[in-house]
Amino acid sequence: MAAANNAQLYAQFHGALKGAEQGAVVTRFPPEPSGYLHIGHIKAAMLNFHYAKMYGGRMLLRFDDTNPSKENDDFVQNIIQDLEKLEIYPDAVSHTSDYFELMQVKIRELIASGHAYMDNTDVEVMRKERFDGVESKCRNQTVEENLAIFDEFVLGHRPEYCVRAKIDMQCPNKCMRDPVFYRQNDIPHLKTGSKYKVYPTYDFACPIVDSIEGVTHTLRTSEYNDRNPMFNWVIGKLNLRPVHIHDFSKLNLVNTVLSKRKLQKLVDTGVVEGWFDPRFPTVQGILRRGLQIKTLKEFMLKQGHSKNTVFMDWSDLWADNKKVIDPIAPRYTAISAETPCLINLINGPAEPYEEEHPVHDKNAELGTKRVTYSNKVLIELEDAKEINPNEKITLMKWGNVVIDSIQENQTETFRGVPLKYILEGHLVLDDKDFKKTKKLTWLSAIDDKIAPASLVEFDVLITKAKLEEDDDFDALINRNSRFETKAFASFDIKNLRPDAVIQLERRGFYRVDAQRDSSVLFFIPDGRTKSMS
Ligand code: ATP
Ligand code: MG
Ligand code: MG
Repeated sequence: MAAANNAQLYAQFHGALKGAEQGAVVTRFPPEPSGYLHIGHIKAAMLNFHYAKMYGGRMLLRFDDTNPSKENDDFVQNIIQDLEKLEIYPDAVSHTSDYFELMQVKIRELIASGHAYMDNTDVEVMRKERFDGVESKCRNQTVEENLAIFDEFVLGHRPEYCVRAKIDMQCPNKCMRDPVFYRQNDIPHLKTGSKYKVYPTYDFACPIVDSIEGVTHTLRTSEYNDRNPMFNWVIGKLNLRPVHIHDFSKLNLVNTVLSKRKLQKLVDTGVVEGWFDPRFPTVQGILRRGLQIKTLKEFMLKQGHSKNTVFMDWSDLWADNKKVIDPIAPRYTAISAETPCLINLINGPAEPYEEEHPVHDKNAELGTKRVTYSNKVLIELEDAKEINPNEKITLMKWGNVVIDSIQENQTETFRGVPLKYILEGHLVLDDKDFKKTKKLTWLSAIDDKIAPASLVEFDVLITKAKLEEDDDFDALINRNSRFETKAFASFDIKNLRPDAVIQLERRGFYRVDAQRDSSVLFFIPDGRTKSMS
């Protein structure tokens, strides 16, 4: 799919932008630097990027840094890098904090025109009053009183106060019941340090910055629908240039948390290694798990225009991913190093020899690997257990073997690991009948032709498919979700670069996570089981 084409398909699946003029569209992706980007953000970022491309316009990246309690520069840097990895290139980068000065002017303007007031109502009481449609005791303070309190509030002297818009406490849409637009915070801000003591809320900052930065289309998830009138109220009261709002559906996945607060908790309590953990739904997590950028792009494209929150199953994504990696993943071999078995080939090659073979039968461009033939081959215990004396089996890509005997073994080892069964057999290479034989994965048992590998599989982190607001989150964390087994692998595995995606014959797809004393290989889910693994 060509790029322009792709963009048009986005409109087809996600709806055209109302009032869009070719060459004049400006969209924006506004992450809060309070965590790493996750799969939900990928959808938002790709949508914004593709709409901008489709209309020949621009996409802005804006760090929505209005809450110093949750934000830091490490998150900013990771977001920039992750977007680059996703091949999303913003035309300009800004921070909501670039406009703090302007926003203080604007909030004072609202107070001065009687459209906002200072309120020191206790948080809990405020919540209840909003629910019940009860006006705050502060609502009818005079403009002069409000301005006097505000001027002290700005200096950090009135932390018990916040600024509230004066809209409508009886409005059926509770978002319009005098929302909070400014509050105090003593924690130093990641960009402005201790310069400001008070910060705008998202509800106040977003319409102002969107309008000022020239955004023509603000894309928001449909859960923000109720807040659209408030967005337009701010624009109207401050006489700012209007902005179109375009809703899209939020992406959710089963057995997955996307709340940054909850993800941060999993990091802080050591349930995962960090935000880049392969079990995390972050960009870094899922790429580390072996998901390809191409798969993500096509998946987001197919998401469709439904306004409802979408609960996807990971298996759909992984099944798509398998189609992407199958044609490009070189094939290698690995045998479990926990319970290996051995076949002595009586008429096997007395001297081992090597042959070059393509690493992929259908893709010659991927190059070759070295296969070693000898008279001793390692096989899997599961295979050995299935074989009967006198049975003819097939060593894959080599030939047929008639098994003469099978012995349980106590004494012989390979690389210090006891061999569970030792089989004797003889090659019958002129027998090309492979129809009914068991096909065995094998590796020559030659010490320096084998590389140690650690095969790692992961399970879901969250045991419940769809988390609800009042679920006991702690009780739903799966604290046993990483499984590692040792394997003997073909020697060439050692030379693969980290991040390479390969297939291990009869085991599935793996991503090379690291090359240490052994090669660390992460199993890539193939969509055959539901959930994440
Ligand atoms: P949290 O509430 O955990 O902080 P957030 O949604 O507020 O997450 P932001 O960094 O503010 O995170 O989000 C940036 C952009 O990504 C927003 O425009 C938001 O609509 C979009 N976004 C966030 N989560 C999803 C999701 N699950 N699906 C689609 N878009 C999302
Ligand atoms: Mg948020
Ligand atoms: Mg947000």
